[in-house]
Amino acid sequence: MLIGVGKGCALTAPEASVTLAVRFFKRMRAVDLIRKKRDSGELSREEINFLVSGYTRGEIPDYQMAAWLMAVWIRGMDRSELTALTEVMLYSGEVLNHSEIPGKKVDKHSTGGIGDKTSLILAPIVAAGGLTVPMISGRGLGHTGGTLDKLEAIPGFNVNLSLNEFRRVLRECGMGLIGQTAEIAPADKKIYALRDVTSTVENIGLICASIMSKKLAEGIDALVLDVKTGSGAFMKKETDSIRLAEVMVDTGKRMGKKVVALITDMDQPLGRMAGHSNEVAESIEVLKGRGPADLRELSLELSAWMFYLGERTKSVEEGRHLAETMIVGGQGLEKLRQGIRLQGGDERVIDEPERLPIARLNFHVTSSAAGFVTGTNCEQFGIALAMLGGGREKKEDLIDHGVGLEFHKRIGDRVEKGEPLATIHFNSDAKLAEAKALIAVSYIIGEDAPQEKRPLVRRIIGA
Ligand code: URA
Repeated sequence: MLIGVGKGCALTAPEASVTLAVRFFKRMRAVDLIRKKRDSGELSREEINFLVSGYTRGEIPDYQMAAWLMAVWIRGMDRSELTALTEVMLYSGEVLNHSEIPGKKVDKHSTGGIGDKTSLILAPIVAAGGLTVPMISGRGLGHTGGTLDKLEAIPGFNVNLSLNEFRRVLRECGMGLIGQTAEIAPADKKIYALRDVTSTVENIGLICASIMSKKLAEGIDALVLDVKTGSGAFMKKETDSIRLAEVMVDTGKRMGKKVVALITDMDQPLGRMAGHSNEVAESIEVLKGRGPADLRELSLELSAWMFYLGERTKSVEEGRHLAETMIVGGQGLEKLRQGIRLQGGDERVIDEPERLPIARLNFHVTSSAAGFVTGTNCEQFGIALAMLGGGREKKEDLIDHGVGLEFHKRIGDRVEKGEPLATIHFNSDAKLAEAKALIAVSYIIGEDAPQEKRPLVRRIIGA
């Protein structure tokens, strides 16, 4: 079939495509693609691939990528550009294949918050219930905590397994929790570092491509997203959280995965503990059938969706029941014990949490007035924790796993003047004064109890 005519001679299909490809690639230049996006144009998959792959290989300089990212930040991307960007970032590295492990592979991703430790609870519940959970997680940065840092509070726990070791752990116990390796979505690693220093992080399309490229590289069949909303979340406004959830669900579905997103409350910390050792200990409590109600409820809800999307149960209700059974029967706890052992950690922390690093000193932050807790400036708790050594300001900073915050009052609770609102567990008083002042003003005390009880799960997208 003749499909192209050049310089008066008819070309056959393969000749034409080679000629067109050569001309096409000769013509493509980063400067033109930056201008196209700057002027609100829509980039093709080939153009996005040219930019992202070229940048990852070091052929396109930082300044051109930064200019393009800023143009995207200002002009946005449509759905097909977003899918293309996610795919190109995903295939910039290895996409894991666990086909030798029978059954479905599922994971959960949270956009992050204060006291959010559900991964430590749901991974063992879901693995004990028969699915495989290949979880590649991140570290905390800014005011939010990260799963890897929490796991490293467990003496000996190794989050830096090679991909071969990761596969062995998954085969043996059905769950593995590691950090992003050099092989996983290298384009995201490089682009995220650039976004961090060019003020181009807070863009829904770029966040979506970054998160989804890493998660889909895990080789999963289904993904449950926990998109936080409120004063302690990355997205403070519910409308922004919903928009982020919608584009992530849509992108995942376009790539053939089952995805749902739960929009969940982050107007106050999840559970009673924020820190590292204390969050591990609180997660163990939930797996023992105890622990705070909100943390237990959200962990069960997310596990239920994982069971359902992973086709382990026929409904979410059945999934919730299965998750509860894994707690009541102790299988979730035993799975965590096995997982800790296989990743080199001291499994005795399950029965003896005092083996976790613990801060030497504590201080109660008390209420300056009587009344009701009507709200919190939740992000400030995360900032206070980081000040005490429990978070990082720069990626290289070391973390003190023993420091933490313990919250005694929740929104709607009655409080008397002088009653403790929170306890600070600390090792050095260098920043204690600043941290306690921040915590004290982060509780909003009013005369009346708030009328409206806001649900923990605000809505579900993509169900
Ligand atoms: N977390 C990520 O992994 N990427 C983003 O862009 C934002 C948060």
